[in-house]
Amino acid sequence: ATFSTGVMAQRYVVGTNASFPPFEYVEDGEIVGFDIDLVKEIAKLQGFEVEVRDISFDSLIPGLASGSLDIVAAGMTITADREKVIDFSDPYYSANQSVLVHEESDANLTVLFGNHDVGVQTGTTGDTWVRDNLLEDEILTGELRNYDSYVFVIRDLANGNIDAAVLDKPVAETYSQNNPVNVVAEIITGEEYGIAVGEGNEELLAEINAGLEKVKNNGTMEKLIQKYFE
Ligand code: GLN
Repeated sequence: ATFSTGVMAQRYVVGTNASFPPFEYVEDGEIVGFDIDLVKEIAKLQGFEVEVRDISFDSLIPGLASGSLDIVAAGMTITADREKVIDFSDPYYSANQSVLVHEESDANLTVLFGNHDVGVQTGTTGDTWVRDNLLEDEILTGELRNYDSYVFVIRDLANGNIDAAVLDKPVAETYSQNNPVNVVAEIITGEEYGIAVGEGNEELLAEINAGLEKVKNNGTMEKLIQKYFE
């Protein structure tokens, strides 16, 4: 927006982890994707500016807490634990977890049982799900390998260095289009993604929710889903 008074629009730093296609990924050196378009559209509608930074997923919540980030748009699931330290917008996308294996493997869900090595991205709901449901009860007795980026999870899966990966199904499906990996099981976790802000930042959260509401009602959300999923 332009103001005759010359007042500059507020600029917010948006944190993401660009290894989560089609929500955020790097293309020709640029951070792009569904969440990036979404947050830019909200910014345009509400009259603020954004600058997007690509950092590790497990640094996003600390970034909001320390104030180095204003907003997180990272396909981040709204969870009760996270709600204790950050605030989430209304939900904008629903997803489950899934199991990804090498395309030449005949493994199924049981690849998560016994002596297999499983890759996850650190700090994600996939990471937590494997710990809480498989490691704790020693259902999985192999290694849980933690990575900073799904790019390296997929690389190790394609190379045969790990047996399986657990990650959000829409992202696993997107990776399977261009890599020798297949989704072989869905884990129904019923997750909802939200845009996050620092705890108590009610003003910014209200702006984001207002913009999100407009995006849902003016056809933009539908267009984004078509652009990135069809
Ligand atoms: N939705 C998952 C979570 O919130 C994964 C998000 C991601 O890795 N970008 O933990």
